This record gives sequence, C-alpha cells and structure tokens, in this order.
Amino acid sequence: MSIPTFDIPFKSAVSPEVLDGDTKLNFRCHKGIACFNACCKQADVTLAPYDVIRLKRRLGLSSSEFLAQYTVPFQMDADGTPGIKLKTDDNGTCLQLDGDSGCGVYADRPTVCRYYPLAFLALREKGATAATEQFTLVREAHCKGHDEPRASSIDDYRAEQQVQAFDEHNREWYQLILKKRSAGPTVGKPPATSLQLFFMASYDIDRFRRFVLSDNFRGTYQLTDDSYAELERSDEALLRFAYRFLRQVLFGEHTVQEAADAWEKRVARRKAVWDARRELELARRAKAEDDKYRR
Ligand code: SF4
Ligand code: SF4
Repeated sequence: MSIPTFDIPFKSAVSPEVLDGDTKLNFRCHKGIACFNACCKQADVTLAPYDVIRLKRRLGLSSSEFLAQYTVPFQMDADGTPGIKLKTDDNGTCLQLDGDSGCGVYADRPTVCRYYPLAFLALREKGATAATEQFTLVREAHCKGHDEPRASSIDDYRAEQQVQAFDEHNREWYQLILKKRSAGPTVGKPPATSLQLFFMASYDIDRFRRFVLSDNFRGTYQLTDDSYAELERSDEALLRFAYRFLRQVLFGEHTVQEAADAWEKRVARRKAVWDARRELELARRAKAEDDKYRR
C-alpha cells in the first residue's frame, strides 16, 4: 500500500506522510531521558474545547479565569475563527511545567501533549460526508524519544496516552472546523457575533452555561426541563450541546427548536432598542441645531 502524503510549503518538523492507527511508531518518552521536559520548554500547544474543561477542573478555576490566566488567543483562519494556545513564559516554557518534576497537570494534559510526537489530522476526502482520523509524525531535533528502542502501533500509543476521552469529546468540534474550512466562501465570513459565540461555546464553557440557562435563551429555544437540568449539571453534555448550537449558528442546521413566537419577540425587543436609539439620535441632532443657532 502506498502511503498518502500532503504538501508542506516550508521546511517543517512535520513529516508529509499521512499515517493510520496500524502504522508502527518507534518512540518512548520517560523521566530518565536526556531531553526530559525539552518539549515543554518550547511549547506551542493549541487547545481544543475538552482540553479547557479538563484543565480548568484540574486547576480549580472557572473557564473564564483559566482562559485569562493560562491561554493566549490566535486566529485559526483568514475569517478570524478564534483559537487558543497555552500561555508560556518569555522563554517559551509552558506555565504548567513544574520544574524538574515535569508536567504539573499530567493526568489532565491537553490532547496535543498526549499525541506528541504525533499530530492528529482530521481529513475529509472530496465527496465524503465524514472525516477520517489520521496522523502524521513530528520529528524535532531536541526530542530523543525517537532513538529509544521501542516500537508500538499508533493505536497502542494512543491507548497508552489515554486520548480516547479527548478524541470523543473533541471529535465533533474538529468536524465543525473542517466543514467551515471546506465550505470556504460558500458560507461566507461569519459575522462578528457568530465568532464571539464560537469562542464562548468552544472555550468559555461556564459562560456558555450562563448564556444557555438565561431567561432570554429559554424564551427563544425550546428544550425540555430535563435537558436544561443536564446542561446545568454536566460540562460534557453542555459541550455536546455547544457543538449542536454552533452548527445552527454557523451553517443554519436547525436542530435546536425555536419557540414559535421567538422571532417576533426578538424583533419586538430589538424594536424597543432601535426606537430608543432613534429618539436619542433625533434629540442629539435637535440639540446640535439649537446650539448652532444660539451661536
Ligand atoms: S501542558 Fe504539560 S505536557 Fe503540555 S506542554 Fe505544558 S507542561 Fe508540557
Ligand atoms: S522524549 Fe521528546 S516528548 Fe519526551 S521529554 Fe524528550 S523532547 Fe519531550
């Protein structure tokens, strides 16, 4: 079987070969290795939604506090789709590194750290409805794990790194991003409000919970009392709902039922605001005219 490849338009540590779960991987990382922690001292860790949930719980913070203290924002594409990375110090060392002991959040470390030296690729072939999950190898000079005499399959390595829960809870989000990318100009650039919703629903899950449990939301969307109770109780259930809600916001996939008169109520609410704004503008113009004649 020939191994598929993809193009890398610059010199990169990422191998251009696309690998699957059966591919043999020669790698071992352990505390006694000469390069221990070298990777965490030049960390470039992009976070997915479930990473935030695990880390904010681990650190005993709300999602908003975690984002403010331990992440930096970046744009994932030309449309400004927001992404986040783990914050480092000025030398590039991850703030979660606990001196010589290694990762201070090891049991809850992010997906990217678990997969290393693999990079996860969600690829969708032309015409396919679902993405396939494949991998590629990252080979960096500082990492001596490739020289260790130990071979396992990629699937065995994933099991050892306990990526299953992370993949399960992030999978739909990867699909969503892939769909947005492959739709390209056909869906157009999302308005700023949609991008703000994307940020909140993807990363600031506690804030998204307040949004979903607000009277405004309940007046607009019809969910059962049991559903609301579950969204209040469980971060994981809320994340599943966040993906569903984002598909509605970004692609118009209407799966969250709106109340029959939601549109009219929204227009009525907005109309009151528009009327108030117009009154203010008229008053401002009248005053400007008065001032002009007074002068
Ligand atoms: S989260 Fe842990 S494993 Fe990942 S870069 Fe930071 S210290 Fe290293
Ligand atoms: S072997 Fe690679 S992954 Fe492990 S500590 Fe060294 S640089 Fe990091």
